[in-house]
Amino acid sequence: QPELSGDFGRIMEWADASRRMTVRTNAETPADARAARSFGAEGIGLCRTEHMFFEDDRINVMREMILAEDEAGRRAALAKLLPMQRSDFIELFSIMHGLPVTIRLLDPPLHEFLPKTDEEIADVAAVLSIDPSELRQRVDALHEFNPMLGHRGCRLAISYPEIAEMQARAIFEAAVEAAHETGAAVVPEIMVPLVGLRSELDYVKERIETVAKEVIGEAGIGIDYLVGTMIELPRAALRAGVIAEAADFFSFGTNDLTQTTFGISRDDAAPFLATYQQKGIIEQDPFVSLDFEGVGELIMIAAERGRRTKNGLKLGICGEHGGDPASIRFCEEAGLDYVSCSPFRVPIARLAAAQAAINSGSEAQASAAAS
Ligand code: PEP
Ligand code: MG
Repeated sequence: QPELSGDFGRIMEWADASRRMTVRTNAETPADARAARSFGAEGIGLCRTEHMFFEDDRINVMREMILAEDEAGRRAALAKLLPMQRSDFIELFSIMHGLPVTIRLLDPPLHEFLPKTDEEIADVAAVLSIDPSELRQRVDALHEFNPMLGHRGCRLAISYPEIAEMQARAIFEAAVEAAHETGAAVVPEIMVPLVGLRSELDYVKERIETVAKEVIGEAGIGIDYLVGTMIELPRAALRAGVIAEAADFFSFGTNDLTQTTFGISRDDAAPFLATYQQKGIIEQDPFVSLDFEGVGELIMIAAERGRRTKNGLKLGICGEHGGDPASIRFCEEAGLDYVSCSPFRVPIARLAAAQAAINSGSEAQASAAAS
């Protein structure tokens, strides 16, 4: 395990004493979660559950689920995925030992999981007992022209609530088990992605609450949990006051929020953004450092409107900007409670959060002295 020891470790401790914001990590593997803990992460701010399904044995079950003919077929595959997800979450909760863990429901467009080669198609067709050519048609039917603006995020949970239900069940069962094993309280934070409408969050939240009641009944013990949403669409930022009525927390997904605010594809931007920088059209890549007057303004609006509805609404950031020092300074000004970044950026984020808190304290002192 990487460790922060000696002088560096001591400097980090000094920095922590000045910090207001918490620093969490984006992690879904036990190795990343452990590394992040050793770097001082104070919880998981984003567990991208889709990353848990790309391995060989799991992706095949995922394919069965997506390409099943009907809900019963999907449920049969989900029943196989449930114990895998449950053990994933038990491990993460145990590593985090009572620190907050935010788990995001499945987010990406389904085609990311689909079989592509003839061999892959034949494998899945055999499991589903259908002709490979029929399966190819089902795969083709899932084609989207603009998948990042398509059938993804909470839209999946609304089309196929059984996926969200499986994940919620895995989370609650794991919370019970991990609390039992570690003796530390586990309060899972379930995060709904790509919400733009309050009614989307209501729909998914109702499913989560139903599953919570079932698991609480079966386990015979109470389970505390939070349900929140990503704010990663401009509409969600603008309607934050209404969305906050149904949310326990907001986490700013600045990768998608940058994409949708600029109308620039996060996957295709690199070549022309490099040209833009060379020609002085923009000073810096907005996917690396927050654009304060655009994406940042939406964050300010959402924070203000969300907290006007719900005093003390928990606010965090889990886009890549959560590990960028200039963006972290902005998050301090916006009054966020935490930043979440990849494990190896946690030490930088701790320093940057401390620096930001010190600067904002001295600015406040200076303005008090001037007035
Ligand atoms: C984001 O959009 O900023 C985010 C954290 O989610 P993802 O990168 O997984 O879309
Ligand atoms: Mg996103």
